[in-house]
Amino acid sequence: MLDEAATEQVMRRLAAAMPGRTRGAKGPKGQPDAFRSCVACILSAQSLDRNTHAATRNLFALAKTPQSMLALDESAIANAIRACGLYNIKARNIRAFCAALLDRHQGTVPATRAQLMALPGIGRKCADIVLSFVFGMDVIAVDTHVHRVCNRIGLTHAKTADQTASQLEQRVPVWARADGHFWLIQFGKQVCRAQRPRCAQCPVADQCEWLAGHRSR
Ligand code: SF4
Repeated sequence: MLDEAATEQVMRRLAAAMPGRTRGAKGPKGQPDAFRSCVACILSAQSLDRNTHAATRNLFALAKTPQSMLALDESAIANAIRACGLYNIKARNIRAFCAALLDRHQGTVPATRAQLMALPGIGRKCADIVLSFVFGMDVIAVDTHVHRVCNRIGLTHAKTADQTASQLEQRVPVWARADGHFWLIQFGKQVCRAQRPRCAQCPVADQCEWLAGHRSR
């Protein structure tokens, strides 16, 4: 794993090469409030963005608050969100999430990771996305791109995205946390792609553990 100085250098180079948080940076799936951001996050599990968009559009046409969502029965929710897959499980999770939110927090989405993760259907990734996008906290939310590039470079050595998130929280310097998610995700989409990463154009190639491993084979 990269040491402290190398981690600092990698983050500085990514900061120089990639766009950070901008005014146009949307919340999870572009939702306008914390409640809908959480629900969109639940819907996005193992779903392509376009299918999640279709499901959120259908569902929020029926209900936009925990109270009105809970008034729908499970089959009505499942029908509305069919596009995003796993719709029966997600419908059950959404109702359980709404019930717990009303019961424990009077319907207001809490602003701590522990409270968010205690709610049904909300894992570390969802919690961190909500903390970062909705509450503006300096948290690096880890999606599939962030997980991949961090473990290729050697910023982390983790098997799961949740482990990557924990290691980033311990290792990334404080100055890089507000925008780190944005640099890493853009880097993953534009340069360190899942298939055929563009190593020849990579600003951190000299630090990359994955590339060093390939060269030595
Ligand atoms: S050198 Fe290649 S694999 Fe390593 S971070 Fe850059 S693009 Fe990704």
